[in-house]
Amino acid sequence: MFSITTKTDEETQAIGRHLAELVSAGDVILLDGDLGAGKTTLTKGLAAGLGIHRYVKSPTFTIIREYKEGRLPLYHMDVYRLENGGGDDLGLDEYFNGQGVSVVEWSQFVKGELPAERLTIHLHRDESNIDRRTLTFDPQGEHYQKMTDKLEAQYDE
Ligand code: ADP
Ligand code: MG
Repeated sequence: MFSITTKTDEETQAIGRHLAELVSAGDVILLDGDLGAGKTTLTKGLAAGLGIHRYVKSPTFTIIREYKEGRLPLYHMDVYRLENGGGDDLGLDEYFNGQGVSVVEWSQFVKGELPAERLTIHLHRDESNIDRRTLTFDPQGEHYQKMTDKLEAQYDE
C-alpha cells in the first residue's frame, strides 16, 4: 500500500494518466471514497491517458459507460444506484473479464460480483484544505501489486 496526496484536480487527473500507462486488458480498478472525493476526476485522467478525448462524466444514471476509442476499452461504472441490489442482472462479470479496463465507483454496492484480484484506490478529502485529496493504493494480487510498485517508483523520482 502507498499513498499520494494531491492539491488540485489536475494533480489527481495526472495520477490517472500515469495509471493508464500501466493497465492492461481485463484490469479492474475500484474507486472508494465519498461523494466529491475525486473518483470521477481520477477516471477522467485515466481516460485521457488511454487516448479517450470524449467528455467523461459520472455514469450515475446509466450505471455503465463504455469508451472504445482508446488504447484499451474503458468501462466506467458508477453503481451507486445499485445500493439496494440488482448488480447481478447487469452482467458485470463480462466487463470484468472483458478486453477493457473496468473502473468501478461505489463498488461496495456490488461486493458479491467483484473479482478477488483488483486494485482498490481509496480517495480521502483532507478536512483542513478543500482541494487536498489523499489517494491510497491497495492492490490485491501480484499483478496489481506490480502495477502499484511501478506507480510508486514514478512518484518517488
Ligand atoms: P466523485 O466522483 O468522487 O464523487 P468528482 O471527481 O466528481 O468526485 O468530484 C471531485 C470534485 O472535487 C471536482 O469538482 C474536482 O474539481 C474537485 N477537486 C478539488 N481538488 C481536487 C483534487 N485534489 N483531486 C480531485 N478533485 C478535486
Ligand atoms: Mg463520480
